[in-house]
Amino acid sequence: MSENKYDVIVIGGGPAGYVAAIRAAQLGLKAACIDAFEGKDGKQALGGTCLNVGCIPSKAMLDSSRQFENLTSHFGDHGITAKDPKIDVKTMVGRKDKIVKQFTGGIGMLFKSNKVTSFFGTGKLLKGNKVEVTGSDGTQTLEAANVILASGSVPVELPFAKFDGKLVVDNVGALDFDKVPKRLGVIGAGVIGLELGSVWRRLGAEVTVLEAMPDFLAAADKDIAKVAAREFKKQGLDIRLGAKVSKAEARKTVVDVTFEDKDGEQKMTFDKLLVAVGRRANTEGLLGDGTGVKTDERGRIEVDEHCWTGVDGVWAVGDCVRGPMLAHKGSEEGIMVAELIAGKAGHMDYDVIPWVIYTEPEVAWTGKTEQQCKDAGIPYKTGSFPFSAIGRAVAMNETAGQVKVISHAETDRLLGVHMVGPCVSELIAEAVVAMEFKGSAEDLARIVHAHPTLSEAVHEAALSVDKRAIHKAN
Ligand code: FAD
Ligand code: NAD
Repeated sequence: MSENKYDVIVIGGGPAGYVAAIRAAQLGLKAACIDAFEGKDGKQALGGTCLNVGCIPSKAMLDSSRQFENLTSHFGDHGITAKDPKIDVKTMVGRKDKIVKQFTGGIGMLFKSNKVTSFFGTGKLLKGNKVEVTGSDGTQTLEAANVILASGSVPVELPFAKFDGKLVVDNVGALDFDKVPKRLGVIGAGVIGLELGSVWRRLGAEVTVLEAMPDFLAAADKDIAKVAAREFKKQGLDIRLGAKVSKAEARKTVVDVTFEDKDGEQKMTFDKLLVAVGRRANTEGLLGDGTGVKTDERGRIEVDEHCWTGVDGVWAVGDCVRGPMLAHKGSEEGIMVAELIAGKAGHMDYDVIPWVIYTEPEVAWTGKTEQQCKDAGIPYKTGSFPFSAIGRAVAMNETAGQVKVISHAETDRLLGVHMVGPCVSELIAEAVVAMEFKGSAEDLARIVHAHPTLSEAVHEAALSVDKRAIHKAN
């Protein structure tokens, strides 16, 4: 095979793309990955949004801020006190940057050990499965039997609140403040708004979250969202629902925000404004003329259930296609496509993708919400159990929250499991496995769970399913 010819070329080195490239190479295919992300040092930083400015750095900051809040607000209950605790934001952000570098560098090493050729530059799909790469040293054209598009997503910008990187920021800016803003405004009570809003609140900022929708966490089960809203409010997150923002004016050092809610027009001034109103597929400039690859009205690449675009040898995975914008969803799609290309039976179960919000308490779910069961006319039964009655949670002093299990009224097959509480980001894995194996609530109830553990809440919620009312199909 000539130097510029590959079995697989992946455009995008995020969790969808780099995983696809490595899996393809592991399966004996000649693979290359093109990525344009530039780290803080101006060098290529593999890993996309997730590793550089998403999942990993946000969790590093969540952990640091959680330690600080424990020290300032919770350790007293354990009889532990510290005099005048302080935070050094520079050190905290520096620690986060070190973690990011460790992981982005790690992908470079994985590429080397798996013999994936890495290109630092911008890739464009041309007609006939050719790919143009433009980097600092010019443009070259590569060829491949298969091209996987994995260009990810970018934050949605509001026309009246344009990002300036200083006062009006997206996730990138909000992970890099050099000091704790006294007043932080957040537009959007979604995953980013809640996670990054929590980080800065724990460190001392007054955080106001302006959410356009009347319901809180509309994608979550209503019972879970209700508990989460109550807990966040108790912590001091000022969440304003049904708030329509119309203006955000950056002055020298502050931003004036105008919005309307049930109390009429209001104005608030913030030291920083985080806009987190969703992300959109990053497909601008990705497709050359005549490739035949189609995008939908939201700019997402159209694909079938196997992530095939309908054009011979062209696939697309991750945030740039339909489905939830989650790193693990993209990675699994990448693996599926690499396996299909290698002639194996790649498969992905879109019905059992776990969702996690890494707030305190954490929120996690998989499968259908009660509302979705109702809307789909599925007869179901539910069971739930509070962490306040779980010994381990009480010992940890983390009693807020519950586990809710939904199963089919006739077959008892699990339809959804929803949680809010301590460490539910880990507990949800049990539900995912049970659902993937087509388990029932009775299966969960009959499995022996160690005592005392938080997982007993899953066991108890499953045990309680049969005792509850059965909801008939509409
Ligand atoms: P991306 O990670 O966006 O990667 C795409 C890559 O392609 C980028 O490096 C980009 O520079 C590159 N690229 C784009 N176009 C081209 C081109 N033409 N040529 C060359 N390179 C190109 N998800 C979770 O599951 N868990 C979390 O905890 C979580 N936390 C998050 C926190 C934040 C603050 C944010 C913003 C997101 C978070 N996400 C989380 C979402 C997660 O980051 C994305 O779902 C995931 O990164 C998508 O992976 P991807 O590979 O599709 O795209
Ligand atoms: P999101 O879709 O989670 O939330 C956006 C919120 O903004 C919604 O509640 C929406 O109603 C609201 N909104 C939209 N327009 C608005 C407006 N004009 N004024 C006020 N509110 C408005 O989006 P996000 O928080 O930006 O995150 C983007 C994506 O990144 C998420 O969908 C998620 O897939 C991914 N992510 C995942 C994690 C995780 O898995 N823990 C963490 C962060 C991000």
